[in-house]
Amino acid sequence: MATNTFTIELNGSQLILTLKSNAFNLFEQPANNLWTFDLEGRLVGMYVDQANYRRTLDNRFFKKTHVNISGEYFRSVKPVPFDIAFPLLQRGTNLLSRVRDRCPEPFQEIIAKITCMTPVALREQTRTFNEIYLPISILPPDQYMALVVQLTEGCNYNQCLFCNFYKDRPFRIKSVPELTDHLLAIKGFLGKAILLRRSVFLADANAIVTPQSRLVTALDAIHNHFPKLNDIYSFIDVFTGIKKSAADYSELAGRGLKRVYLGVESGNQELLRFLNKLQLTDNIIKLSENLKSGGIQLGIIFLAGIGGLRYAERHLRDSLELIKHLPLSEGDIVYVSEFHETNPEYRKKMESENIPLPDMFAIRQLSKQFKAELKAVVPKGVAVSIYDINQFFY
Ligand code: SF4
Repeated sequence: MATNTFTIELNGSQLILTLKSNAFNLFEQPANNLWTFDLEGRLVGMYVDQANYRRTLDNRFFKKTHVNISGEYFRSVKPVPFDIAFPLLQRGTNLLSRVRDRCPEPFQEIIAKITCMTPVALREQTRTFNEIYLPISILPPDQYMALVVQLTEGCNYNQCLFCNFYKDRPFRIKSVPELTDHLLAIKGFLGKAILLRRSVFLADANAIVTPQSRLVTALDAIHNHFPKLNDIYSFIDVFTGIKKSAADYSELAGRGLKRVYLGVESGNQELLRFLNKLQLTDNIIKLSENLKSGGIQLGIIFLAGIGGLRYAERHLRDSLELIKHLPLSEGDIVYVSEFHETNPEYRKKMESENIPLPDMFAIRQLSKQFKAELKAVVPKGVAVSIYDINQFFY
C-alpha cells in the first residue's frame, strides 16, 4: 500500500492523517502533537505537549528526554503510570473519533481499530503479551525493530557479576512443538503490526547455544511462519559459541543468520576474571574467525567504565589490542556500552575491594575515549556506536 495522506479541519486545528504501509500517524497542527499507531491500532509512540513517549507491546509507557547536566547531554527514560499516559493517548483518539465519519476509507478502518483500544483492551494486550513472552530484557540497538522469538529462555551462563538481565528465570530451550506454539501466538498477537518489524531476533541471552540440528529446524520454522523477515540475529557467548565450527555457522548463515552479538566486555583478562566472565581472549578471536568464515557478521560489545578507574587504562589498552586481532570487515559493528549498574553484586564487590565507583561523568569520558580510540583502529566500513541499554523498549 502506498502512503496515503488526508488533511481535515477540526475546530481551528488541522489534522494530518498519514496511512503508511506499516503504520498510521495523526499529526495535529498548530499544537504540533503527533501520535503513531501500528496497523492494529496500538499506540507505538507519541509526541504530546513537547514531550516524547513510547509505548511497549506489553503496554508500559515511557517518557524520553535529554537532560543537560553541567554541559553534558544524558538521555533520560522514565516510566509513566498508565493513568497519566492514557489521557495523552486519548487526546489523539478523541480527535480521530470526531473526524472519523468525514474520512475516506481506509482511514475509517484504522480509526475504528484505534478507538477500540480502551484501557480494558490495552490491559488485555498486557495479559496476552505476558502469556507469549517472558520479559524481553535487552536487544542490540540496531535490532530494536526486530521481531523477538524466544527460542531459549534465560542465560545458560548467568554468572557475570555485572549482569542482572536473566536472574529471574532458569535457562531452557523450547521444544519444537513449544516453538511452533510460540510462533503462532506471536503471529496472532501482532497481526498487521508485524509490518513494523524488520528482522527476527532470537532471544534470550544466547539462542545459538541450541544444538545445531534443533537450531536449523528452528530457523526453518521461523522462515515458514514469517517468510517476509529474511534476516535473523542473536546474541552469542564465547563459552558455547566456540563449540560450533565454521561449517556450522555457514549452515546457519544459509538459513538467514546474519549477525551475532558478542558481549566481549573487555580485552583485559584480569578485568574479565574480576567480572566473573571467564572467557579467554584467544577464544573470542577463534570464535570470531569461525563466524566470519561461516559468513556471519559480528556485533562486538565493550563495556566502558566497568571496573572503574583502577582497570580503565588496561581495559582500554587490551580491548584495542583485541579488536586489532578480530577479523572485522564492512557490515560489522563495534558497540561501546556506557556501563549502568543492574546487579547490586557488582557494587558490593567494587566496595569490598575498595575500588571507587566512577560517576556518570567519568563513565561518559571513558566511553568517549573508548569510542574514539576504537574508531581509529577498526577497518573501514565497521561502525563504532554507542549502546545505551536504557533506550531499549519492546
Ligand atoms: S552478560 Fe551475557 S553471558 Fe553474562 S550473565 Fe549476562 S547474559 Fe549471561
